[in-house]
Amino acid sequence: MSRILIVAEHDGAKLNPSTAKCVTCAKQVAGASIDVLVLAADGASVASQAAALAGVGKVLLADNPANAEPLAAVLAPQVAKLAAGYTHVFGPSTTYGKDLMPRVAALLEVGQLSDVMAVDGPHAFKRPIYAGNAVLSVEAPQDAVLVATVRVASFEAAATGGSAAVEKVDAGVPLPTHTRFVSRSGATTGRPDLQSAARVVAGGRALGSADGFKIIYSLADKLGAAVGASRAAVDAGYVPNDLQVGQTGKIIAPELYVAIGISGAIQHMTGIKDARTIVAINKDGEAPIFEVADVGLVGDLFAIVPEFEKALG
Ligand SMILES: Cc1cc2nc3c(=O)[nH]c(=O)nc-3n(C[C@H](O)[C@H](O)[C@H](O)COP(=O)(O)OP(=O)(O)OC[C@H]3O[C@@H](n4cnc5c(N)ncnc54)[C@H](O)[C@@H]3O)c2cc1C
Repeated sequence: MSRILIVAEHDGAKLNPSTAKCVTCAKQVAGASIDVLVLAADGASVASQAAALAGVGKVLLADNPANAEPLAAVLAPQVAKLAAGYTHVFGPSTTYGKDLMPRVAALLEVGQLSDVMAVDGPHAFKRPIYAGNAVLSVEAPQDAVLVATVRVASFEAAATGGSAAVEKVDAGVPLPTHTRFVSRSGATTGRPDLQSAARVVAGGRALGSADGFKIIYSLADKLGAAVGASRAAVDAGYVPNDLQVGQTGKIIAPELYVAIGISGAIQHMTGIKDARTIVAINKDGEAPIFEVADVGLVGDLFAIVPEFEKALG
């Protein structure tokens, strides 16, 4: 029988929705038992959120002051040790999981399966290749632990309603000292997180400047949405690169994606394939974004967006 360990992503207080999506993926492995590992400094609250996910059998809570910050070098040896007895170790294909899971795989001396988008069997999965233009069916070896990252855009979050037991664990492994936390710097915008937001408003090169981008922020705030951008807007310095959506940015699956002044290059579309409703505003009626848009508005964004915002009241 498959025994799956999911490494939880969290910020010390809140469980990231990516964990619930990994649970949904794991549930598609027929007959699997699913445990969640929370590595934290004081993770009781996060562990109880994980325990409430339907389908989780047990939550392992590894409290350790060294786990206060998500340093992959520190977390990976603990995950590798605590993975003993499991057939699969899953993490989300987010920045956190992409940082941590390859180290776990290396310590367990196996290759990593990245970006699982569908489950065909306990060792058979699908994953996207060529910027999402083709789908690869992968058969993983059955005689080794399978370390994988889960493409969170491909799975709905598992529902709550579970009541799994929380068990305190200690990996008891020496932790490396070559990597230490110095400081964290990042913009605190008060807006939803781009990767897990239900609504995203994104702007492209057409915004023309950082100043021009202000109408994107304004519309996003009206909609309670996260802000995203094309690579052209990032490269031009209108917005920081953590807002980039696409092949070399974030892969997202919001309920609503509003693409403003974005042409719809294939590398951008890779990032929004799983968005439920796509609204595009572009002055070029032939722009490729309109091929995937559910709602398209052809015209000058600097006229349409303020009108759109006004209509929202
Ligand atoms: C290896 C590789 C990886 C890449 N990764 C990514 C990625 O992760 N994400 C990504 O986004 N791109 C990525 N790109 C770049 C991608 O190919 C495109 O260059 C980029 O997405 C274009 O951004 P854009 O749509 O903002 O700009 P453009 O393609 O220049 O489009 C601007 C659009 O705005 C419209 N427009 C102009 N003025 C107005 C106006 N006033 N009102 C309304 N519409 C207007 C135009 O009609 C046009 O359609 C990658 C490229 C490569 C080679």
